[in-house]
Amino acid sequence: MEKTKYIIIGNSAGGIGAAEAIREVDGAGTITIISDEAYPAYSRPLISEYLAGRYTLEKMLYRPAGFYEQNGIRTLLGEKVTKLDAAGHTLTLESGGTVTWEKLLLATGGTPIVPRMDGVDLQGVFTFNKLDDAMAIDEFLDRSKRRVRAVVIGGGLIGASVTEALVKRDVAVTIVEMKDRVLNTILDEEASALEAEALAGIGVTIITGHTAEEINGYASGEVRGVSLDNGRLLPCEMVILAIGVQPRLDAVHDSGIEINRGIVVDRSMAASVPDIYACGDVAEAYDFVYGENRLTPIWPNAYNEGRVAGRNMAGVPTEYEGGTAMNAVKYFGVNILSAGMVTPPGDGYDTVTRRYNGIYKNVIIKDGLIVGMVFAGDIEKAGIVYNLMKDGVDVNSFKDVLVADDFSLASLPEDIWRTKLALLTSEVASGIRAIEEPEEAVFDE
Ligand SMILES: Cc1cc2nc3c(=O)[nH]c(=O)nc-3n(C[C@H](O)[C@H](O)[C@H](O)COP(=O)(O)OP(=O)(O)OC[C@H]3O[C@@H](n4cnc5c(N)ncnc54)[C@H](O)[C@@H]3O)c2cc1C
Repeated sequence: MEKTKYIIIGNSAGGIGAAEAIREVDGAGTITIISDEAYPAYSRPLISEYLAGRYTLEKMLYRPAGFYEQNGIRTLLGEKVTKLDAAGHTLTLESGGTVTWEKLLLATGGTPIVPRMDGVDLQGVFTFNKLDDAMAIDEFLDRSKRRVRAVVIGGGLIGASVTEALVKRDVAVTIVEMKDRVLNTILDEEASALEAEALAGIGVTIITGHTAEEINGYASGEVRGVSLDNGRLLPCEMVILAIGVQPRLDAVHDSGIEINRGIVVDRSMAASVPDIYACGDVAEAYDFVYGENRLTPIWPNAYNEGRVAGRNMAGVPTEYEGGTAMNAVKYFGVNILSAGMVTPPGDGYDTVTRRYNGIYKNVIIKDGLIVGMVFAGDIEKAGIVYNLMKDGVDVNSFKDVLVADDFSLASLPEDIWRTKLALLTSEVASGIRAIEEPEEAVFDE
């Protein structure tokens, strides 16, 4: 049986954040990162760029070659953890071995939800969550002799990402969305409508208010089409299941670790069992907008939570200041940034809204504090609004300027902009830029 001081399951945003934070304070303790993906850490959000043909794996790697070696990090890649014995500090690998730890981090991320319906095992049905998925779709398209028709089931972030890539690959795409509009969890009605218009503009068909009931196949095992709940058949050769992602808990079940929707952690990212921590998409970490722990599955949160976990694992008490669901993406030519609540959840909320030249900005305020924002078309200064939200600044006296077309730091009362100037160079601001321009940034703090 092998023994390692620190074991990290997951070689992605959370795992890398933790390993780096550990090394900053403990240069000697052995670190092992285990992942069932076979690649060095790559940017998951860029799998759509890979599929679109704009990125190679090499360009998606966000740490230099030699990163693991230089930091004394041992990797077990392509290796799955099948079982955890929390009390015995031992985990079991699919290949048969066991490893023991002093401190363990679960940075196992999310796994796509596969609906229970006939046909999900047919050839031509894919999920879109990892590089291997993008590679499999790529190969399928390369093998196809004529123009492929795809049905994307689910019009959320993953559905939008894969649609964008498929359109670039000249695939005819139909999105089937159960709710009444696309991107409904991250956008309000108006911003959704702008995205729907942009999608229609690039030839994507959107069917809302309906669900897929069955994927139909030929005797050969290939996809023939998708049947909807209204009896309509959408003929297609390819189906992408994009109805959502859930925390990946397969190694954790029966371990005694407390799980709600994700792994329950405190502000030090410690799980309910001693010496075990969790971060990223698998963990319910503190959300400063809601003032409670929730799933906030985005890249910068995973990385920051990983850093906090790593420091605590290495014995340096550190508290996670909190994150929130913040998405800054460019789909179909429309820049969007949304964060916190995207629609007021009840009475007692104030909104400031502005529309001009195809641009839409909406900020939601409660008791003077920003609790949510949706910017579409122009997100250049959205980072300032996000920072005001994060810092809990009372904006009541100047709320209208937040959505003005010429809004800038100088629009804020002087005492506030002087402090914000420093914050704008903070990691939150760079996190926002990072997602917009992943090729440059991403993943430096
Ligand atoms: C298509 C797509 C687009 C996205 N776009 C954005 C975006 O624009 N902006 C943004 O902020 N976020 C985006 N995200 C979300 C972002 O990628 C995640 O929030 C982030 O990757 C979470 O990091 P993580 O370290 O928690 O987990 P993950 O990145 O999910 O990594 C977890 C790793 O652990 C491995 N693992 C899990 N269980 C085991 C086990 N039992 N044994 C061995 N290995 C295991 C997994 O295989 C995986 O490699 C996107 C995600 C997808 C899929």
